[in-house]
Amino acid sequence: MRLVHTIAVLRKELAAFPAVQTRGFVPTMGALHAGHGRLIHRARAECDQVMVSVFVNPLQFGPKEDYTGYPRTLQEDCAFCDARGVDILFAPEAEEIYPRPQLTFVEVSRMSEPLCGRFRPNHFRGVTTVVLKLFHMIQPHRAYFGEKDAQQLALIRRMVLDLNLPTTIVAVPTVREDDGLACSSRNRYLNPQQRQAAVVLYRALQAAQNQIAAGATDPRQVQAAALAILQQEPLARVEYLELVDPDEMQAVTQITGPARLAGAIWIGSTRLIDNVLCQPPG
Ligand code: AMP
Repeated sequence: MRLVHTIAVLRKELAAFPAVQTRGFVPTMGALHAGHGRLIHRARAECDQVMVSVFVNPLQFGPKEDYTGYPRTLQEDCAFCDARGVDILFAPEAEEIYPRPQLTFVEVSRMSEPLCGRFRPNHFRGVTTVVLKLFHMIQPHRAYFGEKDAQQLALIRRMVLDLNLPTTIVAVPTVREDDGLACSSRNRYLNPQQRQAAVVLYRALQAAQNQIAAGATDPRQVQAAALAILQQEPLARVEYLELVDPDEMQAVTQITGPARLAGAIWIGSTRLIDNVLCQPPG
């Protein structure tokens, strides 16, 4: 595996393999875990060249968020990627990606406003801008994203359509710990007691999912049932819990087809998100 830190060397590495038919790309912020592992595995199975990026993107963090404290474990990430057959690991410094203040942004309007967008202003603008920059640098045929970040995935799909990018976006189902907690780099912030409490988010989502599978059609009723479960956990503070349509992420007023229930909670100073796809009967 080649570890590359600069765009110039990256371009040389990519040019050295002109015969590559399918370049697969997995963008990450590092502190790699089983969720990332699943994306890499899928890319390895479908592509003849696999690239992973590890880049903690300052543009997607708010001024009071955890940019500085975000876990940086490049040595472990290198071994993780190497063991999974990654060909190139691109791990640039922030100055390499943003050598001057970024004045050009790509923003997927409307879809970036609800859910996380409501609580993290400019977050998704930072995500789509860096993903587009990375796509330009890497020129992947296929790029892999987790359903765990469903709004991000939907926005990137839309950006690719709206800007006619030649990259196929592949969605990978959420990987969970044994008790159901979605794997996340931020889980390592949790102490053992908080870690136990954190599973309440998935339990609440599942309860709502079951209600919808049993025929509930009123989102308010379903959301109330999930909120009641979250409120039983004293360590959890709810940021949002909302049922949205799976493509455009807009709130649904009546459950008539598949819908995504997405939630964000705080456990202490750690923010966790998760979501499930809900299917009405039939
Ligand atoms: P991150 O490093 O958290 O920015 O995530 C990089 C990619 O991995 C994104 O496409 C995420 O959606 C995906 N990802 C993170 N956690 C999981 C998980 N538990 N299951 C599946 N994909 C995940």
